[in-house]
Amino acid sequence: MKLSRKAYSVEPAATLAITMKAKEMIRSGEDIILMSQGEPDFTTPKNICDAAVRAMNEGLTTYTPTPGVPELRQAIVDKFKRDNGLNYKPTQVMATNGGKHAIYTAFEALLDPGDEVILPAPCWVAYPQEAEMHGAAARMFEPASGGLKITPQDLENAIGPKTKIFAFNTPCNPSGAVYTKEELKALGEVCLSHGLWILSDEMYEKIVYDGNEHISIASLSEDLYRNTITINGVSKSYAMTGWRIGYVGAAEEIISAMSRLQSQHFSCLCSIAQYATVEALNGPQDSIAAMVVEFSKRRDFIVDRLNAMSGVKCEVPGGAFYAFPDVSEFYGKSAGNRVLNGSWDLANYLLEDYKVAIVPGAPFFADRYIRFSFACSMEDIKRSMDRVEEAFAKIA
Ligand SMILES: *Cc1c(COP(=O)(O)O)cnc(C)c1O
Repeated sequence: MKLSRKAYSVEPAATLAITMKAKEMIRSGEDIILMSQGEPDFTTPKNICDAAVRAMNEGLTTYTPTPGVPELRQAIVDKFKRDNGLNYKPTQVMATNGGKHAIYTAFEALLDPGDEVILPAPCWVAYPQEAEMHGAAARMFEPASGGLKITPQDLENAIGPKTKIFAFNTPCNPSGAVYTKEELKALGEVCLSHGLWILSDEMYEKIVYDGNEHISIASLSEDLYRNTITINGVSKSYAMTGWRIGYVGAAEEIISAMSRLQSQHFSCLCSIAQYATVEALNGPQDSIAAMVVEFSKRRDFIVDRLNAMSGVKCEVPGGAFYAFPDVSEFYGKSAGNRVLNGSWDLANYLLEDYKVAIVPGAPFFADRYIRFSFACSMEDIKRSMDRVEEAFAKIA
């Protein structure tokens, strides 16, 4: 008996796999510092939890409309208008089972076998597999500059006859890069001139530093508004990763298709989480600012420590909560009897010998780099940097 072709080809998300391995080591008593997790180490603000309890006590525990309860769709409309300058009607937005499923369903609504999605590297681990699950091809392309951002020329060179979607993420997980308005406009023009859809993943929009401004590419012109699928969610902004609510804004035709697909996937989303999300979007927003202040302190510390280590080059991330240093200086060298031939070897070395769990760059299509999440306590960041410094000093 055989499973499906898809079942054999799909791989588990690398970020989750590493965290699971590290957590197993913790359960067996090892002192592992977890820096592989892509989620805030804060708890969901109380007003949001209270809204969930209220929903439960009021009996709001039944099936809901597939695209979300009306209050939630309206809260999403208001949010897009307030924060992003995007005017969507309620029929142009829907809630999804996390941002990840918004991406999956958007791809499902737009891609046929043979179509291609192009992705600037480094890119989030989930995009290629999600495109491939619909029989489409995913092609990564790198910035010619060797840096962390693509130029319009890089994009132009990457587009082929089968390209249907340009999918990208700003602020970027894993690199922390934030695209400016001018850069987005220029990239958008290239997409429009080739009739591409743009999938804009804006999950980290609230987590930006140094006065960087998050811009939604769909807000930059009428044509970009029509061609863009804007993805967002509450996981990162409100420390709500476990609630599983994402949302999307796009043309009515796309939302209608995504809603039909979603109705077959799982009828509707958790009703309680939907009411909690209404409160997250409509309620007080001060928890975000407090979280960003804290992340910003940690960012400054970790980037300084990394850059003080010989062989390490770390750009200062403009957003998100990851440090993404280039550690390729170490490749081809040895630590004890290990030969370090890439980011996976380095990640295994740090985890097994120094008990620090990080994510290699390879699954983000950027093998020169490794990713440290600084969504963990300052104390853990300090301890981890001591260990990493010692680990790197042993490489010869
Ligand atoms: C975390 C993340 C998401 C999705 O998060 P959900 O928990 O599914 O809402 C989407 N894109 C990027 C880049 C992320 O890091």
